[in-house]
Amino acid sequence: MRYDVLIIGAGPVGSYLANLLAREFSVAVVERKGSLGGKACTGIIGAENYERLGLPESAVLNKLRGAV
Ligand SMILES: Cc1cc2nc3c(=O)[nH]c(=O)nc-3n(C[C@H](O)[C@H](O)[C@H](O)COP(=O)(O)OP(=O)(O)OC[C@H]3O[C@@H](n4cnc5c(N)ncnc54)[C@H](O)[C@@H]3O)c2cc1C
Repeated sequence: MRYDVLIIGAGPVGSYLANLLAREFSVAVVERKGSLGGKACTGIIGAENYERLGLPESAVLNKLRGAV
């Protein structure tokens, strides 16, 4: 099968990019692990990206003022 775009790695970046590109191109994502999502994530999302991604209010479990 032929695709316009091949993305190596289904971490956050590869998955998000695939979602964007799939609107105009046929996209395949190759992941070497048995699960998607890349590295472990604590679940912290910056306010700017939260708004950019258009996530629902129900996705917010807690609000933080900062993290170290
Ligand atoms: C413990 C921990 C907690 C974190 N918590 C947060 C958080 O709360 N908020 C936050 O914003 N960030 C957090 N991060 C950082 C976040 O996980 C990374 O910034 C993010 O995963 C980077 O995404 P990525 O898609 O660039 O890379 P990765 O997540 O590393 O994904 C790359 C993917 O490519 C695959 N891959 C690599 N080489 C190949 C190959 N040759 N063939 C096929 N597949 C391949 C890998 O298996 C992996 O699934 C955390 C990181 C860790 C380790």
